Amino acid sequence: MLPPLPYEYAALEPSIDGRTMMLHHDQHHASYVEKLNAALKDFPELHGRSANWLLLNLIKVPKEIRTAVRHNAGGHVNHSLLWRAMSPTGVDAPVGPLADAIVRDFGSVEKLKARFAEVGERRFGSGWVWLVKTQPAGGKLEVLSTFGHENPMLQGHYPILVNDIWEHAYYLKYENRRADYLKDWWAVANWEEAARRYEASDLADRDDWEAEGGRLSEATA
Ligand code: MN
Repeated sequence: MLPPLPYEYAALEPSIDGRTMMLHHDQHHASYVEKLNAALKDFPELHGRSANWLLLNLIKVPKEIRTAVRHNAGGHVNHSLLWRAMSPTGVDAPVGPLADAIVRDFGSVEKLKARFAEVGERRFGSGWVWLVKTQPAGGKLEVLSTFGHENPMLQGHYPILVNDIWEHAYYLKYENRRADYLKDWWAVANWEEAARRYEASDLADRDDWEAEGGRLSEATA
């Protein structure tokens, strides 16, 4: 099932316009959920798994649906993270241990933002830009981008904050100006959620990663 947006479509204006949010959530994200469910339809043994589990265990997914699962479970997981990575309210700078780790690993919040912009602008075509914590516990923070709907969990990195750099995420308002979108996006970045994820990351083991987001049988009912 498509998770509801945790705020109104227009709540993130002026950074992200309401029509983009409506299309992005109700059409783009919804279609990944629909295609994932369609791919899994004839494989009831997978219905009790979470989308995270499917991504982290692609080798156990039947070959004939592996590519569809990879793309669409990835789309579902990444967009579910994205809606929570943004907030119309909340603090405008990192808080708690995450704030200290950002200074430790980037020098300052401004340097983190500059790195995020650089990596996001450099990604050719569609993808995602991430702030991740490399595992294991106490690992370094890094900024990286992924292609399509790839998720850094597959490389063993825990997502802390994420932005979508597919054109569908910004084209109506920003047209070809991805750099402006990346810059304006910070006004709605959800630092409280990022701090929560950072603190959870040291405790999370692989089972927790796989379970995050709930079981698909509940999610698809
Ligand atoms: Mn998207």
